[in-house]
Amino acid sequence: MTVWELAIFVILIAALIIVGVRVLKWLFSSKSKWGVNTARVECFKCGATAPIVRKPANLKQFLWGGWTCTNCGSEMDKWGKEV
Ligand SMILES: [Zn+2]
Repeated sequence: MTVWELAIFVILIAALIIVGVRVLKWLFSSKSKWGVNTARVECFKCGATAPIVRKPANLKQFLWGGWTCTNCGSEMDKWGKEV
């Protein structure tokens, strides 16, 4: 392996890492449906805090996360936004 081949190899690995980090950032951002919200959400209406382990009330909540407030019955997504 020549020095140039090694340099190209290193640049390719670096590019892959940068792209990977960007994809991961997007996945965990609130813009993504696939995002994972590790923070606890609060009800937009009454301010009740959702439990860490939220029991899904329907299939959509099971698939994408979300919560139905036990206090006032409002439905929200995993980011605490009204649905
Ligand atoms: Zn509520």
